[in-house]
Amino acid sequence: MKFVDYSFDQGLLEAIDAMGYETPTPVQEAVLGPILERRDLIGCAQTGTGKTAAYLIPILNQIITNPGKGTSAIIIAPTRELAMQIDQQIVGLAYFLSISSMAVYGGGDAVDYDLHRKALMTQSDIIVATPGKLLMHLNMGHLTSEGVRCLVLDEADRMLDMGFIDDIMRIIHFLPEERQTLMFSATMPPKIRDLAKKILKDPVEVNLAVSKPSDSVMQAAYLVHDKHKIALIGHLLKGKDLKSVLIFASTKLAVKDVARNLKKVIDSVEEIHSDLEQQEREAVLLRFRTQQTHVLVATDVLARGIDIDTIELVINYDVPRDAEDYVHRVGRTARAEREGVAITFINGERREQDSFKRIEQLLETTVYKLKTPVELGEGPEYNPSASGGKSNGNYKQRRFSSGRPNRKGNENKSRKPRQAN
Ligand code: AMP
Repeated sequence: MKFVDYSFDQGLLEAIDAMGYETPTPVQEAVLGPILERRDLIGCAQTGTGKTAAYLIPILNQIITNPGKGTSAIIIAPTRELAMQIDQQIVGLAYFLSISSMAVYGGGDAVDYDLHRKALMTQSDIIVATPGKLLMHLNMGHLTSEGVRCLVLDEADRMLDMGFIDDIMRIIHFLPEERQTLMFSATMPPKIRDLAKKILKDPVEVNLAVSKPSDSVMQAAYLVHDKHKIALIGHLLKGKDLKSVLIFASTKLAVKDVARNLKKVIDSVEEIHSDLEQQEREAVLLRFRTQQTHVLVATDVLARGIDIDTIELVINYDVPRDAEDYVHRVGRTARAEREGVAITFINGERREQDSFKRIEQLLETTVYKLKTPVELGEGPEYNPSASGGKSNGNYKQRRFSSGRPNRKGNENKSRKPRQAN
């Protein structure tokens, strides 16, 4: 299902498109439905999976189709960095909507405090905040919370680790009983379950935690132009006597192409994709398993059935769109206590580079980037979109629309959407 298949507000769909999102990520696909049905939800999902947009999109849709009075949604995040990133995604997704948001986080001085106070009094539709600062303003009466219909706790496990549990419980006492509560956490330890029991009502549980690749996989990446990828594989395999190499490409067309071109430079290459009959697939897999075939080019879907312990090298001919596919691909090697190597080719396109950045975010590591051999010339630079550019203040208040009057009656200037990272 694509975003356009959901009955979202037109302006929201335009912004989703401007952000470069076409299809929901697995986390988004799993949570959009229940959130739109106004169910409480507990989601186990890491950064890098698209979880922020997963809750922002339905929240924005709700506010625009059914505007409330004052602040409608409060999002609590453990750190100012995360609060800023969430706020920046709101900027992008609300670009064509007359919805205002504000980020409130710690570390400011007296001037900041006064700015926060004044801005909070004007009641943004959405407030993104760190727990301590939000509680302080609630205690001081700077924020009226009767209109809050949705509360999000992002990275709940981190907030508990940082000792914010009391602040969170106090904040919740300020909010209406009748509300939707969404909780996202990268891990699901017992203390998170306890908190969920206390604050969620009959929640939908979504578990999309991705296990990370084992430490015995050596991961690396090459920045390489498409036209040099076949030659690079030739270079990597030359003289290595590797018996089991699995190469992934995203589409069956690409798989066929890669296999055809590889056959020109190396022996013992086969391909597997959904165009092959079941019998043929089994025969190909058997030859690969018994090492009669040394190099297999496969699509993601077909590779899910590959359970072979002896794969020495995985090559990602392209960067998978989903971080989860990356983890799955890389997990084909270094099985059963063996060591393995996983190499990803990243071309100069923004899509590939941004996808790789999301993978690194998910893995919480930077994958080592190797230089292509001299005979292939310079590869592209690694220059993905920054994970949300820098914000220049401790709070922001905005209200934009595509030139139509916003619901408070002001005419707004249209602004260019900020590119998502
Ligand atoms: P998050 O897990 O929320 O930190 O998101 C990670 C990155 O994925 C962010 O840079 C988002 O802009 C991007 N993103 C979120 N949803 C999608 C989507 N459906 N398609 C492509 N990129 C997305």
